[in-house]
Amino acid sequence: MDCIFCGIVSGAIPSTRIYEDEGAIAFMDINPGTRGHALVIPRSHFRDIHDIDPEVLAHVAKVAQRVAGAARTALAADGVNLVQSSGAAAFQSVFHIHFHVIPRYEDDDVRLPWCPRPADPADLRAQAEKIRGAM
Ligand code: AMP
Ligand code: ZN
Repeated sequence: MDCIFCGIVSGAIPSTRIYEDEGAIAFMDINPGTRGHALVIPRSHFRDIHDIDPEVLAHVAKVAQRVAGAARTALAADGVNLVQSSGAAAFQSVFHIHFHVIPRYEDDDVRLPWCPRPADPADLRAQAEKIRGAM
């Protein structure tokens, strides 16, 4: 399989690693949005949030929490965004699931990826009912 992040797991593709254990690896993003932008991935290949084993997801989330805390301490970040994009429509470009850990600073230039608009309450109720029915 032609997967960049599987290449990083195997070592065939170089990475600047922060942390690794039997289930997950954290390394620096080569195109960082902010200082300290890192990625956390499972060692095994899963495409996205729909595909990943829930227990592996839980482990990756725990590692992401540790990386977020370490970045806050080490880089004096004012906040952190954890971003997980699943699907091309959600900006996923590498199809091996990953969490972005993006330290945030009061003066950084990162903006929300959506434009908040007031909702029609009837629309919200209809959407909630559909999603609830699929849970
Ligand atoms: P996404 O668009 O959510 O799929 O994010 C993919 C991320 O992977 C981007 O932020 C890229 O900068 C990053 N990326 C791609 N290739 C590499 C690599 N070889 N080493 C580190 N980060 C990478
Ligand atoms: Zn992979």
